[in-house]
Amino acid sequence: MNTLLQIENLKTILHTGNSPVRAVDGLSLTINKGETFALLGESGCGKSMTALSIMRLLPDTGEIQSGAVRLSGNDILQLPEASMRRIRGKLISMIFQEPMLSLNPVMTIADQINEVLKQHLRLSNEAAQHRIVELLEQVGIPDARRRMHEYSFQFSGGMKQRAMIAMALAGQPELLIADEPTTALDVTIQAQVLDLLRQIQQQNQMTILLITHDLGVVSEMAQVIAVMYAGEIVEQSPRERFFSQPAHPYSQQLFASLPAKQKRHQELAVISGTVPSLSQQFKGCRFADRCPHAFARCHDTVPQWHIIADNHSVRCHLYDTAAVPEQYRPAPDI
Ligand code: SF4
Ligand code: MG
Repeated sequence: MNTLLQIENLKTILHTGNSPVRAVDGLSLTINKGETFALLGESGCGKSMTALSIMRLLPDTGEIQSGAVRLSGNDILQLPEASMRRIRGKLISMIFQEPMLSLNPVMTIADQINEVLKQHLRLSNEAAQHRIVELLEQVGIPDARRRMHEYSFQFSGGMKQRAMIAMALAGQPELLIADEPTTALDVTIQAQVLDLLRQIQQQNQMTILLITHDLGVVSEMAQVIAVMYAGEIVEQSPRERFFSQPAHPYSQQLFASLPAKQKRHQELAVISGTVPSLSQQFKGCRFADRCPHAFARCHDTVPQWHIIADNHSVRCHLYDTAAVPEQYRPAPDI
């Protein structure tokens, strides 16, 4: 498979309060062309900061400290801002949870899409108008020829998200980053937007980095899943394997907290404790204070990666069999 995006040891800090927050702390991942790669985790674990680092659109308080973000082999962190502007929208584009924040309320939908077209493609006026209608039709906006001249406030929540997706597709990017693309939508519309993203991925052979806290969204969309916790990835696995054998205790607890049908009348298992502060230096495992399997080593030694099956890796001392007390060794099928 062809690698499209490779992140190596990315460290992004936020300068807020007294001590810097290590929002992304040594993250590495590889996304292959044409796949949907999900970054899964609770809010505040650094998922969005990872996306904004890739786009180089961090807030003023944010700073990429080190690492590399290679797009088709080129480290885009090294590019001057002018080159990065050409990459955004053209090679990588992003859709956000809240389309209201990304759509311009005083421009028509057509004009906004046209901005992207003008920036990245040389089209005649007529060709651009034609392309706008085509894009809006592709994302399922009915009566696109007329509605393209409307403003975002005239669109429903689902339609706004579709318009955002049309804008993101306008430059025909190779990578689409979707940060909680359906979280703000109601359930029926969520399903429609996910269907749309799936269709687009298949039609355009697009690569998608999907950022979500929602296991349901992941199960429907992703081929590869990376679980993020407190600024780093703790497990990576192909989807089927992840859903049948989640290996990291944090991943296992995410499943335990799912509202399964048979548990409908039971209380949800909530992961006790809170995500640790990311302004500290971690001596051991970041999940140790919340982990039901934690043992002494977890508190003073940072766990290494262990490959436990094809393409399935986990960062946890339980899989370091030599160092694990008998009672904590993982059962053959977790
Ligand atoms: Fe739990 Fe220890 Fe594994 Fe961390 S390293 S997840 S504390 S068992
Ligand atoms: Mg977020």
